[in-house]
Amino acid sequence: MKKILFLAISGLLLIGCGSSKNIANKTGALNTPIFTSVDISNVTEDKVPVTINPGVFTTETVTYRLPKVIQGTYQVSDFGSFIDDLKAFDYDGNEMPVIKTDTNTWTINNAIQLDKITYLVNDTFDVESTDVLTPYSMAGTNIEPDNYMLNLHGFIGYFDSLKNNQYKLDVKAPIDFVSSSALQQVGTVTSKDGKTITTSYFAPRYFDITDNPMMYGDLTLEEFQVGDIKIVLSVYSPNKVHSAKSLKETMLKMMQAQKAYLGDVNSTSRYDIYVYLSRGDKTSPGKYGALEHHTSTVVVMPESMPEPALASSMVDIVSHEFFHILTPLSVHSEDVHYFDYNTPTFSKHLWMYEGVTEYFASIFQVNQDLVSEKEFYQKIMSKIQNSQQRYDDTMSFTLMSENILDKPYAPNYGNVYQKGALIGMCVDILMREESNGNRGILSLMKELSLKYGKNKPFEDDKLIDEIVTMTYPSLRTFFDDHVIGTTPINYNTFLEKVGLEIGKSKIKTNYIQNSGAMIVARNKEDNTIYFNETVTENSFWNEQGVQPKDIVKAVDGEVLTPENTQLIFQKMYMWQPGTDFEMTLVRNGEEIVLKDTLTQSYTTGKSLQEKATATDAQKTLRKAWLKD
Ligand SMILES: [Zn+2]
Repeated sequence: MKKILFLAISGLLLIGCGSSKNIANKTGALNTPIFTSVDISNVTEDKVPVTINPGVFTTETVTYRLPKVIQGTYQVSDFGSFIDDLKAFDYDGNEMPVIKTDTNTWTINNAIQLDKITYLVNDTFDVESTDVLTPYSMAGTNIEPDNYMLNLHGFIGYFDSLKNNQYKLDVKAPIDFVSSSALQQVGTVTSKDGKTITTSYFAPRYFDITDNPMMYGDLTLEEFQVGDIKIVLSVYSPNKVHSAKSLKETMLKMMQAQKAYLGDVNSTSRYDIYVYLSRGDKTSPGKYGALEHHTSTVVVMPESMPEPALASSMVDIVSHEFFHILTPLSVHSEDVHYFDYNTPTFSKHLWMYEGVTEYFASIFQVNQDLVSEKEFYQKIMSKIQNSQQRYDDTMSFTLMSENILDKPYAPNYGNVYQKGALIGMCVDILMREESNGNRGILSLMKELSLKYGKNKPFEDDKLIDEIVTMTYPSLRTFFDDHVIGTTPINYNTFLEKVGLEIGKSKIKTNYIQNSGAMIVARNKEDNTIYFNETVTENSFWNEQGVQPKDIVKAVDGEVLTPENTQLIFQKMYMWQPGTDFEMTLVRNGEEIVLKDTLTQSYTTGKSLQEKATATDAQKTLRKAWLKD
C-alpha cells in the first residue's frame, strides 16, 4: 500500500466541520463452488444487491463474514459495517433467523436448511468525510451512476469453513458500461431486452476474490505491452480531465524502467492499474494512495492535479505497488500467508514490506535515469525530515509492526514510507560497502524470493537472523540497534560511506510549506487559516509582502470555508511557477488583495549534497549504489 503524505499535511489544517432450488439438486458445501452475484444494474438508494449461494451444509451452524482487515492495509476496515438487511433463506424460500455476532459476522443455525444469503451493500467513498469509520480509499468501494469501484472484499464475504472453496461471481451491469477486471472471465449473457449484461467470473478461492478488484462504468482503457507483461490501464476521471490515453506514456516508460531495474524477476503475464480520480468534494474519496494486489493495483488520486504533478505522483505510487511483487507478495511471513481477515496477526517486518518497497520505488528512478541524482537526494532528505519531525524516531520498528493496529503504534504507521525506506537505504549502502559494490538490497530480495516465494512463507522471528547469515555481521548491529532497537539512525554515518553529507542550502519549496514544514496554520477559535511566523523564510510570500498572522480569506476567487479549505490548500500545494493567482488576505481587519504570477519559491533548509572532499573510493561506492 502507499498512502500519500500531502493529505496528512492538509489534514492538519482542517477539522471542521432467486429462486430457491430443491435441496436434492445440491451437493455438499465443502466441494461446491459458492455462487455469488452482484447486481449493479439494480441499485436503489445507493445500495447494491448481493446474493451468496453455497452448497448444502452438513454442520448445525455456519458463520458468514465480511473482512474486518484486508491484506496490504494495516488498519481495521470493518466491511461488515456497510452491509444492510442481511437475510438467510431456506430451500422453500422461507426466511431463516440470523444472529449478528459482531460488526462483520453473521451466524445461522439449522444450517442444513440454508439455501442462500442476500444483502445490500453501501459504498464507502461517499461517507469518508463523515464520522463513519471507513477503509482507505484505495481499499474502499464506490457506487455512483457512472462509476463502480468493486473492491470485491467490500461486496463478497466468506463462510469460515469454506475459505478454500471456488467462487463463481456474476456481475450484472447496464449494457453501456465499460468494465475492467483481471479475474478470469467465464462467460457473458445479455438480457432479453438488451439493457443489461451479466459477466461471469471464476475465482479459485476467497483470496482471489479479495486480490482481484474490478471497475465498471464510464471508464477509459488502454492496453500496452512491457516485455512479456500486458498492462491494462483503466481510468475514471469524472470531469474527463485525465484519461488512460493521457497517462499511458508515463506508465509505459515507468514500467519499462522497472523491468530493466528488476531484471530476471518472475512476475505476472498481466498487470492491471485501476485509477479513480476524485472530484475532491464532500462525497468523494480523499484518502489518496494505492493498494497492491498480486497482479493489479487500485489508485485513488485527486482529479484536480495538473498533468505533470499527477504523472510524477503516479510514477511514485504505481512503481511502489508494482515493486510489491517482491515483498510481501513473494517474500512474506506466515502471518501474511495464512492471513485471517477477522482476527489477523501482524508480522514484525513492515520495514521490509513497505519500507524496502518504497525505497525501490525511489532508487529505481535514479538508477534508470527517470530523475537526476539531485532529485533523488531531495527525496531522501525529505524522508529523513519527515521521519524525524512527524513520527517517533525512537520507536522499535519491529514492535510497531507487530502491533500496528494499536496505540501508540498505529499513528506511526506512515513512518513505514519514510524511515522504513531509509532503513532499506542503509541496508543497501552497508551491503554495497561490504561487497565492494557488488551486492545490495535488490540482490538480497531476489535471493530471498528464490528461497521463499509466493507459496513458501518465512518464519517471522527468524528473518533477521537469516538475512544476517546471508550477508554480513555489520547488518546484525544495524538491525539490533535501529530496527529492533530504539536508537535513531545517524544518517550521516551511512551517507558518508557514499561521499554525501547533510548540509544547509537554498532549496526549492512550495507555497504552503518551507521544506516540508507548514507556513500556514488554523486558528482553533474562529477556524480561520493564517500565515505563521515562518512565512518570512518563504521567498515568494516574503517578496509579496505577506506578514505573519495575515489571514487567508480567499484564493483564486474562492472564499475559504471549513468544507473547501482542504481542497484549496491541496491545489495550492500543487501550484506551479508561471501560473496566475489571486489571494485575499485580512491584516488588522483590512483586506489586502495580491494578484500576480507565481515564481519559484525558495527557503533555506537542510539538503543532502555531494561532499567536496569525498574520496575516490566513496565516489566509486556511490556509483555502484545509484547506478549498478
Ligand atoms: Zn505499499
